[in-house]
Amino acid sequence: MDEKRLDLKIGYSCNNNCKFCVVSHKRNNGDKTTAEIKADLTEGRKEGISTVIFTGGEVTIRSDVFDIISFAKQIGYKMIQIQTNGRMLAYMPFCKKIVEAGANQFSPAVHGHIPELHDYLTQSPGAFKQVIKGIQNLVALDQEISTNTVITKPNYRFLPQITELLLSYGVRQMQHAFVHAIGNAYKNFDNIVPCKSLVKPYVHKALDRVQNENVLAMVEAYPFCFMKGYELHCSERFIPPTEIREIGSIDPDFDYTRKTHGKIKSPGCMNCKYDLICEGPWKEYPEKRGWDEFIPVPGNKLKTFDELVMRS
Ligand code: SF4
Repeated sequence: MDEKRLDLKIGYSCNNNCKFCVVSHKRNNGDKTTAEIKADLTEGRKEGISTVIFTGGEVTIRSDVFDIISFAKQIGYKMIQIQTNGRMLAYMPFCKKIVEAGANQFSPAVHGHIPELHDYLTQSPGAFKQVIKGIQNLVALDQEISTNTVITKPNYRFLPQITELLLSYGVRQMQHAFVHAIGNAYKNFDNIVPCKSLVKPYVHKALDRVQNENVLAMVEAYPFCFMKGYELHCSERFIPPTEIREIGSIDPDFDYTRKTHGKIKSPGCMNCKYDLICEGPWKEYPEKRGWDEFIPVPGNKLKTFDELVMRS
């Protein structure tokens, strides 16, 4: 089993205002103080965790960003990932300083293949140019990059082009995540959340593009019944155990919470060969659109991901 990681939500301030932001409803909750973040990091180490993901909100706009990252390194975190909209990474001196502080994995968000699309979705003019420059800077500094693209109604037809763009900049790990309909995405549901079945050919075409590349490509919140022939890319295979520390709450076992309260299965899933390894969609999607698109896959039930790999 993968080692547990700490998902540390540093607060909710952000210099983007994405149309699908999943924490937009928490923005008034503010941000953690430096002392609170250091206390969280210390607790994580006491629990034996050595991977931390700084997320939020946007950690790169905090005035204490270098301080909290170097503190994480100093107390023994080995993997320090920055989940970011990538805009601050456009500045090379900033990039060098954050790497020197101890960050060693970056997850910048790219939601379009052209400025018009990415900037529309992030509601931030200039954001595309900045995140692309940020990726170029990280590549120049030989940093590990794992991009995140949220699949939405305005961008799903362009997933192959987005994938192509990422490859052209040297990205070797990428995640395409079906939009989770909470926060802004729930408010903008009809304009932002596409039908899962309409997305399918574009997801498959994007994955075709990476078949002969040395690239890890994952698709999140997009169940196996939409992924015939591409099942090995389903993110269930890759999600490690996670502890989440938010403002005012700690979830020591987010895997359990996600499977029991966040995602959902239909009664028909019991007849699907992927039932035991599939988490199903985030619950808001079938609550709004029903289960008609989710067609159980016949066959002997797979019990483990190793079986999936062996049978593929
Ligand atoms: S278990 Fe349900 S959601 Fe998962 S692949 Fe099968 S039918 Fe789809």
